[in-house]
Amino acid sequence: MRIWAVANQKGGVGKTTTVVTMAGLLAEQGRRVLVVDLDPHGSLTSWFGYDPDNLAHSVFDLFQHGGRVPDGLPAQLIVETGTDNVSLLPASTALATLERKMVGVEGMGLIVSRALAQLWDDFDYVLLDNTPSLGVLMVNALAAAQHLIVPVQTEFLALKGLERMLHTLQMIMRSQKNRLAFTIVPTLYDKRTQASVRSLNELRRTYPEELWRFMIPVDTRFRDASEAGVVPSRLDRDTQGVRAYRRLLQDLNEGTTSWAGK
Ligand code: ADP
Ligand code: MG
Repeated sequence: MRIWAVANQKGGVGKTTTVVTMAGLLAEQGRRVLVVDLDPHGSLTSWFGYDPDNLAHSVFDLFQHGGRVPDGLPAQLIVETGTDNVSLLPASTALATLERKMVGVEGMGLIVSRALAQLWDDFDYVLLDNTPSLGVLMVNALAAAQHLIVPVQTEFLALKGLERMLHTLQMIMRSQKNRLAFTIVPTLYDKRTQASVRSLNELRRTYPEELWRFMIPVDTRFRDASEAGVVPSRLDRDTQGVRAYRRLLQDLNEGTTSWAGK
């Protein structure tokens, strides 16, 4: 089982879009994929037509048993997405209350990791979608994942805050003794704008090793797909955006992501 977390402390950079698109592409290749919504806003959950305000059961249930995950519980929480081979562990807005409740509970950072251990034989890939805030949910994601994907919008001041966030993430990972490799993925790239071109160049200078060698372009079909409630490749197999994610997936699987190694 391969576990990838998609995270950035900024909202609107393409985290959820990355999770859904890559899940669809992996499913196309016959992989069994689980997407996990660790964002109390529940945009991943909403994408597939579930209402995070009105879900009786969600990832929140995993956190209701102290640091323990009861046998069989994770499997009971999983729902279908309408796309073959893509299953969802949904979020409910109750997740927003977690931060307060979890203070001081032993093992609270390992709940997602323990839940996924129970699903080891059921899925080939797990993609964790994250909230922009760095709390107990993000700590859980970082502890569970083997690889971290950081989408960064190529815009004016794109790097502002990125360095601090990466530093914090690395500190958490070090304290967990989880040596997590990460890949920075430039998103919403528009080659006609100065802001996109400049920020991409800045990323190349600052993170030559960690930066993915290509970019995810602006592609309006992503919004169409989220409105239709389907994975983007199902709406259209071959838009620029879908093609870029297909290449990212291949690079992640083959370990050939690096801009510096190009
Ligand atoms: P996040 O999860 O980081 O908040 P989302 O994936 O929800 O970001 O994307 C934010 C908005 O930008 C959504 O409306 C989404 O449809 C749109 N979007 C994401 N990626 C792209 C892209 N490559 N091209 C055009 N629109 C995009
Ligand atoms: Mg999101």
